[in-house]
Amino acid sequence: MGPVTAVGPVSIRPGLASLSGYHSPQVDVAVRLNTNESPLPPPPEFRAALAEACGAIAFNRYPDRDARALRETIAAHHGVEPSQVFCANGSNEVLQCLLLAYGGPDRTAALFEPTYTLHGHIARVTGTAVAVGPRAADFRLDLPAVRRVLAGSSPVVTFLCSPNNPTGVVDTPEEIEAVVDAAPGLVVVDEAYGQFARTSGLDLLAAGDASAERVVVVRTFSKTWSMAALRLGYLVASPEVVAACELVALPYHLDALKQAAGTIALRFAAEMAERVAFVTEERGRVAARLAALPVETWPSEANFILFRPATRHAQQVWTDLVERSVLVRDCSTWTGTPGCLRVTVGTAAENDAFLDALEKVL
Ligand code: PMP
Repeated sequence: MGPVTAVGPVSIRPGLASLSGYHSPQVDVAVRLNTNESPLPPPPEFRAALAEACGAIAFNRYPDRDARALRETIAAHHGVEPSQVFCANGSNEVLQCLLLAYGGPDRTAALFEPTYTLHGHIARVTGTAVAVGPRAADFRLDLPAVRRVLAGSSPVVTFLCSPNNPTGVVDTPEEIEAVVDAAPGLVVVDEAYGQFARTSGLDLLAAGDASAERVVVVRTFSKTWSMAALRLGYLVASPEVVAACELVALPYHLDALKQAAGTIALRFAAEMAERVAFVTEERGRVAARLAALPVETWPSEANFILFRPATRHAQQVWTDLVERSVLVRDCSTWTGTPGCLRVTVGTAAENDAFLDALEKVL
């Protein structure tokens, strides 16, 4: 789409026109390693169980508005109460609901770049001001800078992302705790890639101390659960945060098929863990081969690796890889990651195709 223009005398809300939306090119290539999906489909038994559940759906009726079965299953999975779980259409919609409930005019969200572009984008779309702080050169949180930004902007929501997209770097529990101590409002820890990391903000929630009620952990079924096509994400937080999100979510926003799919998926936790183990091992193999190439990389605890070609321009490398039918993410124009590309860990064959192509291109 080109620039948004007015329809006759009607223009869009001031502030939106300068936003560019969020797009990852969907190029038709053989090896797609640009959007951090699971390279593996869900187990066949999941498909069979979902097909059976589909046959039992009362399609003429609205779905369970409270998604009770799904929330109970997610709550049991994490050892929390169903009243602490809110689900939406992908974790992006979870983030949007949080900002619709807590953001808005005269309110600020804080974030530390480089990080997931949609945190700032969704904030701006909801009319929320964005206070941006930098991360350190190694992409870890720079706690003095964090404290300065939080003291200067009093954000109602502070975003963390662990493992962080696009860097793969984790915010440690100690760092998250320090941010919670310094933040006046909610601290949202986006754990879209949480299963690949060794630590989680969920432990802080479980600790149950006074500040824990301001911690919100966001997760998704899009990555490890191999369900990107179905669009399901959720948050775990205090019941008050869940109630606030329910206030702004549209009625019946979670369709019956999605509710069934999420409930069934969690029966396959062992298969999911196997997939995580496989991807983690492949990540190590890709990282080892990248280490022998003229690229800079950062240690990742996610299902992707950020790398910076040392000898050629990132955009040229991206184009040359596409010509070899390999698609990676071009992060070279994003704040904080100049000259960088990001590759999702795929199947062994996909990873080899990427590494062979990169070797030639470089
Ligand atoms: N958070 C992060 C950090 C992500 O990388 C993504 C996926 N790009 C999302 C949230 C959104 O995932 P989904 O809406 O598919 O759950």
